[in-house]
Amino acid sequence: MKTPLELVLAPEHADDQATWRAQAALQLGVPVETITAVQVCKRSVDARRAPVRIRLQVEVCTGEPAAPLESPRPEYRPVRGDRRVIIVGAGPAGLFAALRLIELGVKPIVVERGKDVQARRRDLAAIHKQGIVDPDSNYCFGEGGAGTYSDGKLYTRATKRGNVAGVLRTLVAHGAPPDILIDAHPHIGSNRLPIVVTALRESIRRAGGEVRFGTRVIDLACDAAARVCGVIAADGVELTGGAVILATGHSARDIFHLLQARSIRLEAKPFAMGVRVEHPQPLIDRLQYHTARRDARLPAASYRLSTTVDDRGVFSFCMCPGGFIVPAATAAGEVVVNGMSLSRRDSPFANSGLVVAVEVADLDEYGAHGALAGLWYQRALEGLAAAVAGGAQRAPAQRLTDFLARRASVALPGCSYRPGLTPAPLHELLPAPLAERLQAGIRRFGQTLRGYVTEEAVLVGVETRTSSPVRVPRQPQSLQHPEAPGLYPCGEGAGYAGGIVSAALDGIRVAEAVALASHQ
Ligand SMILES: Cc1cc2nc3c(=O)[nH]c(=O)nc-3n(C[C@H](O)[C@H](O)[C@H](O)COP(=O)(O)OP(=O)(O)OC[C@H]3O[C@@H](n4cnc5c(N)ncnc54)[C@H](O)[C@@H]3O)c2cc1C
Repeated sequence: MKTPLELVLAPEHADDQATWRAQAALQLGVPVETITAVQVCKRSVDARRAPVRIRLQVEVCTGEPAAPLESPRPEYRPVRGDRRVIIVGAGPAGLFAALRLIELGVKPIVVERGKDVQARRRDLAAIHKQGIVDPDSNYCFGEGGAGTYSDGKLYTRATKRGNVAGVLRTLVAHGAPPDILIDAHPHIGSNRLPIVVTALRESIRRAGGEVRFGTRVIDLACDAAARVCGVIAADGVELTGGAVILATGHSARDIFHLLQARSIRLEAKPFAMGVRVEHPQPLIDRLQYHTARRDARLPAASYRLSTTVDDRGVFSFCMCPGGFIVPAATAAGEVVVNGMSLSRRDSPFANSGLVVAVEVADLDEYGAHGALAGLWYQRALEGLAAAVAGGAQRAPAQRLTDFLARRASVALPGCSYRPGLTPAPLHELLPAPLAERLQAGIRRFGQTLRGYVTEEAVLVGVETRTSSPVRVPRQPQSLQHPEAPGLYPCGEGAGYAGGIVSAALDGIRVAEAVALASHQ
């Protein structure tokens, strides 16, 4: 028999099975010897008040063993290739679409402009050390997509969009730690993500799918019936199949320009922009865990903050406890920041995006660019950040307290951003609607989290790529573009996902729609 229970434990007993059993026996009123196993279903840190506790949702087994957490790697049955589909982009949307197509008997051909995860590392090092950005291989482009060298946070609000647990199990089957199946806030870390991404690629290839690197798509190919059936790569090679899944992410600006030039309808959509804030991690630990020093058994503390200022959301975004601020630009002459962390989340810094919602109504100044107005707004800010900071991926930065006081920073605190910081008046650099809302929002955050507004915190600009500023429309049932049959917009870039898991879910959903259509 299995009985669901909640156990509340001090951090020192969080992994102690004897304590679990004793507490479970007490709650159930049964002798401890009758408990054969305690299976953890969900684990969370409860830091709402001191002392911090670990909460475990468990199933207490009496008379039967617990099922193991590990997920074996699925055996994907080989595909023959009589039905094939082109997938543009090897991010989570593209990779999960490919695996689902294989399960449905369709051969995927994944084309990716960037390099495989290992080769990609060298290009990331060049960004950090020399400030050189390869436009095809960077923090956004390359195998695994934008999420490969990230924090690898896997929580999502998109629980109604598909089988989240199934995505996590697939990741575990390909090398992610089984803990992600039970943690309330699962994350993998950018030291482990490349191993998982490599294993996903191996599964695709072993089953007869193709994954081609260094293949930048520059155009679409259509059949005699004007149906999108393939792509043309920068080297002139044409690849065709029954359909094209476009999963190119939020930074593939050339793809948005291509669609616009081909009169394939696009729509502007809301997104968010702002800066990244970095605090010393021990400070965030103190604020969140209510103690002078974090218990080593607790994870680096995180936070999530949000408010509304003058009708626009102001919120923390993609928080990376124990992480690093990274240069996420995709071209020279622009500066874009984001965050990542290793699986242990043990850097001395805590960073997070602090962003303001940008609605389509806010884009008047860039209205001449039509559906790409938001893209040009991002671009303007990124170019300004690069020009002010002085190049080589240096980023403009300001002490958080100076930003609020509207004064220049004379010196900056230590920061994890490796290309270097240039003191700059972000309060003047950011457009007033962003700067003023951010200031009001941060003041409120300082009231919610006393100590958050501190001399020790630094703001680094600019965080512009929170999500796609463009939507590529698709029909609700067939998921094809309404005016370009055969073209399946997919994932974050097309406006249907925001994060690793939701992009993977969208990839699965689109693959199912494509497979269904190819049977009709
Ligand atoms: C530094 C960083 C940290 C992040 N941290 C997290 C996190 O912790 N958790 C989370 O959920 N999300 C995180 N994100 C966001 C997450 O990575 C994205 O939401 C997710 O990767 C979107 O998946 P996707 O497959 O839709 O697109 P992408 O992952 O962007 O993949 C698109 C792929 O298409 C390729 N491509 C683009 N244009 C072309 C072309 N013309 N031809 C061929 N290929 C092309 C790109 O090279 C890329 O590999 C982070 C992003 C960054 C940049």
